[in-house]
This record gives sequence, C-alpha cells and structure tokens, in this order.
Amino acid sequence: MDLSTYAPRFPKPGETMIGHKYVVGFGGKGANQCVSAVRLGCKTAMVGKVGNDDNGNKTINNFKSNGVITDYMAVTDQSSTGIAAITIADTGENSIVIVPGANLLLTDVDVTALEDMIKGSKVVVCQLEVGLSATLETLKLARKHNVRCILNTAPAQSGLSNDFFVLSDILCANENEAEMMTGLPVSDVAQAEAAIDVLLGKGCQYAIITLGEKGTVFASQDNRKPTYIPATKVKAVDTTGAGDAFVGSLAFYLATRPDLTFENAIQRSSIIASISVQSPGLLGFGNIQQQLLQSAD
Ligand code: ATP
Repeated sequence: MDLSTYAPRFPKPGETMIGHKYVVGFGGKGANQCVSAVRLGCKTAMVGKVGNDDNGNKTINNFKSNGVITDYMAVTDQSSTGIAAITIADTGENSIVIVPGANLLLTDVDVTALEDMIKGSKVVVCQLEVGLSATLETLKLARKHNVRCILNTAPAQSGLSNDFFVLSDILCANENEAEMMTGLPVSDVAQAEAAIDVLLGKGCQYAIITLGEKGTVFASQDNRKPTYIPATKVKAVDTTGAGDAFVGSLAFYLATRPDLTFENAIQRSSIIASISVQSPGLLGFGNIQQQLLQSAD
C-alpha cells in the first residue's frame, strides 16, 4: 500500500514541514506492473503475499476489480502487508521508503509450487520486492521452460549474485539501480551506454536502463551496440510508477505482439510511461488504453 505525501520539496534531515495532501493508494512494483499489463488488455496473474489485515484485503480486492487473477496470492498472519512511504515534491520527483512486511515471506518454496503456471505463461515479470530466493526460483523456472522473463531490479540492491543476471532474459534498471549494480555513474545517455555493457557482461540477454525524462537505452548480447529511445516531451505531474508503467507495458507487448521488434516494444512502452507521468497517482492511464494502443500503432 502506498502512503503518499505531496509537499513543496523534500524535507531536510531533522526538518518537519507542512505538505499539501496525503493519499493512500495501491502500490508495490509488481502490483503496479501487473495492473499496467492487465489494463492494456492481457490475461495477468499476480504472485505475492500480503498480511492478514485491512491493507491486505483491500489489495486483493483491488486486483480482482482490475481483472488480475489472484489465485496465486497468499495471506499470512506472520507479518503485515508491505507499505511504501512516498514523498512527492512539486517538481514531480519522488523519494520512497519501503517496509516489505509480508512480501519478504514469499519464498522459493512458494514459487516451486507454481511451476505449471509459470510454464504456461508467455512472460514472467520479477522485481526485488519479495524474498530473493523467490525471485531466483522464478527466474530458474522461467528459463527451464523457455518463458520470456523480465527482471526489474527494483528497489536498487548491490551484491546481487551472478545467477540473477545469467538467468535474466531481459534486465531492466533505472539510473540508481544501474549505478548500484555496475559501480559506474549513470545520469546521462553516454553513461547508461557504458553501464549497459557492464550489465550485459554479467550475463543477461537484454539490458535496459530507463533514464526518466531523458528516455531509455538498451542493448542485447546479439547486438551490443546500444540503442537510445528518447522520452516523449511532456509536463510531468507525478513520476511515481513511471518505471512500473514501462515494465508492465513491455510485458504486455512481449506477450501479445510477437510481430513487434524489441525496439518497437520499448518505444511503445516508453510512450505509455510518458503518459502515466502526466496525471497524479500511479498509472495515470486507467481509462485510455484503447486510445493509446491505437496511437501507438
Ligand atoms: P519509478 O521508480 O518512479 O517507478 P523509475 O525510476 O523506475 O520510476 P524512470 O526511469 O523514471 O523509471 O521512467 C521510466 C520511463 O518512463 C522512462 O524511460 C521514460 O520513457 C518514461 N518517463 C519517466 N519520466 C518521464 C518524464 N518526465 N517525461 C517523459 N517520459 C518519462
């Protein structure tokens, strides 16, 4: 659950300041990506764990009302539902503290039981917001059954073992995550291109770095020359969840449009992400997916 505070700017350490408003909303990277994909029109299931509490019930009901399959969601008494405390400044930038709670109780054992579901999927999307053993097991099962797998390396973590890279078909990182995984500065396109080379060197098939309003860079083992896709110029109101809109859209395009090139799927995903930043709240494209799909054509 996202607890979002809107304020003129970020508070300094030790400072108390008055914000404009406070909004409680559904969140979690996996959840946002799942809802992005289902709203664009593909059959989508969520795997995760919530606490036996009000936030957990609301989260599962929200998945259901969005049409997400919830058969693989578990409820635990051992921890509370995960929350993210988000501050959004007037510039549209955000800073986030996550308390994972029940998410971390999802383990490899839970995932092993889902082998058939993974085997029957067109695309599997993982993040780093559940127990790492669960993510690794998912990557292993996706590879075993030749299922396309996107690893969104969020939130940023250093010291991910080599297996995460080698087992990732598509690794997608933002600037901070790319910096943490490569040890290189990543704040512009040239630096992202250098970081992409390091990420590919770790073994993933495709590496993507998203650079916010600066756009997206990607390359693959087959073609290590990076391709740069500029972002559409828009007035950002709230960039929270831009990366999730991007990853969920990419999963949608890979699952439903095998006719598209990888570059074209990324272009379309970045258009959708740029639309999502133009409205407050996450995934500001709830009602316009048909229009979007037509314009992206
Ligand atoms: P978050 O953590 O807030 O979900 P992120 O840092 O993972 O975001 P970004 O790199 O900020 O992800 O954004 C992902 C993609 O969304 C970018 O590659 C770009 O295509 C699009 N995007 C993000 N911000 C903007 C913006 N201000 N204007 C246009 N497009 C944007």
